[in-house]
Amino acid sequence: MNNQKKQLEKYADLALKKGVNLQRGQGLIINAPIEAADLVRIISAKAYGRGAKNVHVEWNDEMLSYMKMKNAPMEILESFPKWKADGLEEMVADGYALLSVYGPNPDLFKNVDPERVAKANKASAEALSSYRDYIMNDKTTWSIIAYPQQAWAEKVFPETPPEKAQDKLWEQIFQITRIDQDDPIQAWEEHNERLRQAREYLNQKQYKKLHYKAPGTELSIELVPSHVWHGGSTKSVNGTEFNPNIPTEEVFTMPHKTGVQGKVTSTKPLNYGGNLIENFTLTFENGQVVDYSAESGEDTLKHLLETDDGAKRLGEVALVPNESPISQAGHIFYNTLYDENASCHLALGKAYPTNVRGGSSFNKEQMEAHGVNDSLVHEDFMMGSEELDIDGETKEGEFEPIFRKGSWAIDFES
Ligand code: ZN
Ligand code: ZN
Repeated sequence: MNNQKKQLEKYADLALKKGVNLQRGQGLIINAPIEAADLVRIISAKAYGRGAKNVHVEWNDEMLSYMKMKNAPMEILESFPKWKADGLEEMVADGYALLSVYGPNPDLFKNVDPERVAKANKASAEALSSYRDYIMNDKTTWSIIAYPQQAWAEKVFPETPPEKAQDKLWEQIFQITRIDQDDPIQAWEEHNERLRQAREYLNQKQYKKLHYKAPGTELSIELVPSHVWHGGSTKSVNGTEFNPNIPTEEVFTMPHKTGVQGKVTSTKPLNYGGNLIENFTLTFENGQVVDYSAESGEDTLKHLLETDDGAKRLGEVALVPNESPISQAGHIFYNTLYDENASCHLALGKAYPTNVRGGSSFNKEQMEAHGVNDSLVHEDFMMGSEELDIDGETKEGEFEPIFRKGSWAIDFES
């Protein structure tokens, strides 16, 4: 346990230094489950130690969320308190950084009508859309780290005695986030450097299209002109370097909202708002999903796709090699932060404006003209595997290998 306390300290340091990169005099918002109080207190103490002017914690309690989702009248689920959205926006407008501590029970809303969950998600997404614009445009620094809540840990390790599941998941989190290394900060600098090489290679290539081939998948994705690949650390609008996700193994860019053709099959379950969607396929025509099916959770998938027009289109294309430490862990985490970094993935919904040159200052017309997708949702789903091949098509129409059998086909060093 003493050792775990030490690891938590290192984890908190990593979240503040490499995650949000909190600056002296800055405020910090922490979103966290009440189960994570031990970690949140360590992070807060360290944040004040680094000169934070205020740490504001938004606690959530899954039991209470469940009761509300199950029992509250629809008009309550369909309204989101304006004072809350305004308060959060006020803080990010004042330069507060945002740290989300995340580890939900993947089956939380399993027994709730998916329509109720979808309506509540839509209401909060609408109310928080200008708050979220600060985040998705990197107007402040933000980061997500995981916390192994009991219910999540038991889902990941169903064979392990419940009292040991949480420690087992901590062990994996510490390994995957490099906390178990002598100097995690140094390890993250080296990791960021490797991701920088990959994204710079792809930025210079400016492929017109990516072609995917795997069992159940035959898909071509047009990339927007002047697209920008990101991955690893990034910079906020005012130039502070930060890591939006801990862990992160992906490089990602922007698909053209009308340029996706073909069929894709998922390779891991998608946890959407407390419901699992498993073994699903999507068929695209001119960027839009025109057909879909799922072995389970099809109703949830339907609600996700019907959120708005943009929910039927792609907003992100991400590459993750199969040898990523998360993939090597060899099991499903039922948590997007972890699973998305195990596998090549795509996202339905809103694109990150920073994935196209000048995108952060685009207005609606410019977004439309550049093929930038917009939606209330942004949901990553996994479609990578050790059987996935990806080719890049150059402007001249030549095909070059990018991935073979789930791994990079490119030597970045040379
Ligand atoms: Zn991603
Ligand atoms: Zn994403």
